[in-house]
Amino acid sequence: MKRLDFDILVLGAGGAGLFAALHAHKADPALKIAIAVKGLLGKSGCTRMVQGGYNVALAPGDSAVRHFMDTVEGGKWLNDQDLAWLLVHEAQTRIRELENELGCFFDRNADGTVHQKAFAGQTFDRTVHKGDLTGIEIVNRLAEQVWTRGIFRLEEHRALAFVKTPDGSALSGVLMLDIRAGEFLFVRAKAVLLATGGGPTMYKYHTPSGDKACDGMAMALRAGLALRDMEMVQFHPTGLLAGPDTRMTGTVLEEGLRGAGGWLTDRDGKRFMAEYDPKGERATRDVVSRAIADAIAKGRGTDLGGVHLEMAHLGPDNVRKQFKGMVERCADCGFDLAGGRVQVVPTAHYMMGGVPFAPDCTTALPGLFAAGEDTGGVHGANRLGGNGVANSTVFGGLAGASMAKFARGAQLRAADEAAIDAAVAAALAPFAIPPGDLDAIRETLYDTMWNDVGIVRDAAGLARGAAALDELERALDRTGVADGQRAFNLAWHDWLNLKNLVAVSKIVCAAAQMRTDSRGAHFRADFPATDDLATSRYTLARLADGAPQVSSEPVLFTRVRPGQTLLPAEAAE
Ligand SMILES: Cc1cc2nc3c(=O)[nH]c(=O)nc-3n(C[C@H](O)[C@H](O)[C@H](O)COP(=O)(O)OP(=O)(O)OC[C@H]3O[C@@H](n4cnc5c(N)ncnc54)[C@H](O)[C@@H]3O)c2cc1C
Repeated sequence: MKRLDFDILVLGAGGAGLFAALHAHKADPALKIAIAVKGLLGKSGCTRMVQGGYNVALAPGDSAVRHFMDTVEGGKWLNDQDLAWLLVHEAQTRIRELENELGCFFDRNADGTVHQKAFAGQTFDRTVHKGDLTGIEIVNRLAEQVWTRGIFRLEEHRALAFVKTPDGSALSGVLMLDIRAGEFLFVRAKAVLLATGGGPTMYKYHTPSGDKACDGMAMALRAGLALRDMEMVQFHPTGLLAGPDTRMTGTVLEEGLRGAGGWLTDRDGKRFMAEYDPKGERATRDVVSRAIADAIAKGRGTDLGGVHLEMAHLGPDNVRKQFKGMVERCADCGFDLAGGRVQVVPTAHYMMGGVPFAPDCTTALPGLFAAGEDTGGVHGANRLGGNGVANSTVFGGLAGASMAKFARGAQLRAADEAAIDAAVAAALAPFAIPPGDLDAIRETLYDTMWNDVGIVRDAAGLARGAAALDELERALDRTGVADGQRAFNLAWHDWLNLKNLVAVSKIVCAAAQMRTDSRGAHFRADFPATDDLATSRYTLARLADGAPQVSSEPVLFTRVRPGQTLLPAEAAE
């Protein structure tokens, strides 16, 4: 097997991975840095798909503290407050870096200041954007900078497993699969960053990029790490409904549409959000998603099974100008967003949960760092729209500097060779089983997660979901892949994706069973109330003998307690 050694290995080339590589290089250009990515650098992951924009307190009247309070209120007090504090303050630095050092152009007001738009759940218009396709601007500029710096690239390389040292005390490296060649390689590094971006692609309707399959989270679980807040899966209220036979179904129509005054209407064209929340269409994502699900359940759904998003009352020309990307996306599918009505449905968008990490991005496994959507704690029970890309870029940058410091004082560590062999055998397992119907397994996974572990949950549904997931795991172990050409064998990757998605789905389901109150993205029809916020606990789930084991820990209110605010009285209004 091919073997490579680096000082730093970054897994993933989204906002977190690209920033980490750049900041590690900036901290010490002599370091040997590699960035490994399942797709192509600059073309994969969700940061490129960011539409709405980037939350940061810049305008007079706004402040990082106000942003912090919105983040903690939105997270229903489950957040790790020190991480959230770091997010809102470092975002102010990172946005200047994006503009002034990396060359991003964000939209501006007539007076030259950066334009910031409204996003749901925020008390100030603070979302910086480039039209409604912000992520392309950010990732293009980041990728250019990575290309110019001699950072080693392992593109179309899939991380398969973390391999520890023989005594299990630290990380040695990562077993990878070269997708193009279909061959394994082992990469050792003094510091490894987990930045593969989570991605709830186990749900019937979902928004993340097709390369994401919770790989990093599954790898972390198998390495013995716990994941926090895994019951917290965010559903974006407005996924496009374009029919069953197109990958466009489920893709997101951005929040700014509702922020700008868009309406949600039922099959009869009647607005319904005021029946659920006084903020109407501008309520937070969880509230709007549940309201839509309820309206559909009450027979108010459209022919495709969703509701309508309407913008025409804001003036079609204005909508075309303000939301060019969204209007074109809908037009590609034959719908007129600017002047007509478009059918939408809630769609799984983001996982608030993930690997617990410290402000310097270290994890419980020495040598492993984490940043971005693979991590848990920053957002608590709900992520504010616009805080996702801020999270990945802020903590990616911090991780880069932190890994550089760590790598300078560390040695490469020997690997547990038996663990490498075991991980290779696990990846080759589907070739030893008769080939079967992976599509059927995927469809069952989609339906199970959507129906039983979805927007509205209860004990009976979760128990049904847990049993179905166990069965899916067994079905996958009986369903193989033809062992012909291993190079670019997409069926093999489908199997590996499903293996990880089922493993992480089981954790989501188990954490949802453990949380017997409703808050943020997690709603239990059998426990609709939220427990006392002052005694909030967060879930920690791990694998014990291959089965999910969930415990809980008290939230430490290190900056502010529920019911209090850090804002002066006049600013809090
Ligand atoms: C459609 C859409 C719109 C969004 N809009 C917004 C928005 O307006 N504002 C906002 O704040 N957030 C938004 N988000 C969320 C935001 O994109 C994410 O929060 C954030 O960008 C995640 O960054 P990341 O670096 O953690 O992961 P990603 O950007 O997803 O990058 C993950 C990387 O890991 C790679 N990878 C995956 N598995 C492996 C593996 N096994 N081995 C190697 N590499 C691997 C992928 O190829 C990819 O390069 C949106 C998300 C979507 C899907």
